[in-house]
Amino acid sequence: MAMYQIGVKIDVIALYPGDPAEARNPDSPYNKCWRVIPLNRVYMDANATTPLLPEVMEAMRPYWMEVFGNASSIHRQGQEARKAVDHAREVLARLFNCREAEVVFNSGGTEGDNTAIFGLLKPGDRLITTSIEHSAVLRAAERVAERGVDVTFVGPQPDGLVNIEQLRRAVGPNTRPGDSRRTLISIMLANNETGVLQPVEEIGKIAAEAGAFFHVDAVQGAGKVAIDVRRIGCHLMSISAHKMHGPKGVGAMFVRRGTPVDPLLVGGSHERRQRAGTENVPGIIGMGRAAELAMQSLEDGTIERMAKLRDRLQAGLLKIEGTRLNGVGAPRTANTTNITFEQLEGEALVIALDLKGVAVSGGSACHSGATEPSHVLMAMGLDKHAARASLRFSLLKTATDADVDYVLNVVPAAVERLRALAPETVVSGQ
Ligand code: PLP
Repeated sequence: MAMYQIGVKIDVIALYPGDPAEARNPDSPYNKCWRVIPLNRVYMDANATTPLLPEVMEAMRPYWMEVFGNASSIHRQGQEARKAVDHAREVLARLFNCREAEVVFNSGGTEGDNTAIFGLLKPGDRLITTSIEHSAVLRAAERVAERGVDVTFVGPQPDGLVNIEQLRRAVGPNTRPGDSRRTLISIMLANNETGVLQPVEEIGKIAAEAGAFFHVDAVQGAGKVAIDVRRIGCHLMSISAHKMHGPKGVGAMFVRRGTPVDPLLVGGSHERRQRAGTENVPGIIGMGRAAELAMQSLEDGTIERMAKLRDRLQAGLLKIEGTRLNGVGAPRTANTTNITFEQLEGEALVIALDLKGVAVSGGSACHSGATEPSHVLMAMGLDKHAARASLRFSLLKTATDADVDYVLNVVPAAVERLRALAPETVVSGQ
């Protein structure tokens, strides 16, 4: 049994052996074995995923059982579902600042990133991306390279910002008239590990001057910073609902009118033939409501409040001896701080904090369980010990002062304990 409040505080957890269904039965003999442990749980892993906001849950609720129609059917049930999907599309168009016809619903950030790369590039074309992208871009880049696409990875500076001069050199001069090779630049808006925000408007200008297509992975930026695809000048943008208090497995893509992207999935004529498959109506409705709330929170002071909490948390953590902030000096999303704790294994600290009721992550949270040091931090110049000794704290927009107090209370002791146990070899430098 776990009692959740929004803000993801768990007041009590109950441990029981055996079948959970059995354990929920009040007459079960297993009840005798229950141990109730008061535990203050604080979730600071919002970049991995976020819980649904109650308003999102409420918006989705009718679309599971009552309004269950297929949005492509012409009868009443179908038309009700279609109307709701059209409303969500209108909301997403406002979030992107694009036309409704330029919004394509899909299954999330991975599908959007894959669609941009596989859908646009043929052997002989060029892809220019960075070494700090999410694996949804990196693995797709490796795959198209094997198929004859010329792929260049541009590195970041030590602060995590993409090296613009290196990018300009990689893009090269204007595409020559008659040159049928396509060039795609794919660069993320916000990094999932450090929160560093890339200068996408400047990159959009570089793309335009070179006649290149531009895809932005905005999965970690949407809902945290305002997005405007016209100002950025991109052709494609991917976002994901579950990073902004919407449901998992739903996403949306901006596809600028006339951009020649082949669909990844073919079949029915859904999404104007750009993404086949019966629409996930409840998911799309949830994403629409989450996007509405995300736009509100950009204007009602929520982001500033979150930034203050993050700054207080960061300042407190940096008081611990042997700590360093990653991404110093670069603009960052308001909810993220990535800190190196010298002379310990980040994974051990993640586990120690989890036992104290604090959820954070090391490396790339999308691959929790991975022991590899972060490719992002290593590209920024950290050695593998320092990368392994780094943790990401990413706040929900429902985070509270009490959450920050609790984390600042437990982290110093956990760090001290682990350092006392650490072997001599876990020494980190830059
Ligand atoms: N891009 C970035 C920057 C991400 O952080 C993630 C997930 O963490 C993804 C893409 C993949 O998104 P999804 O989980 O919706 O497939």
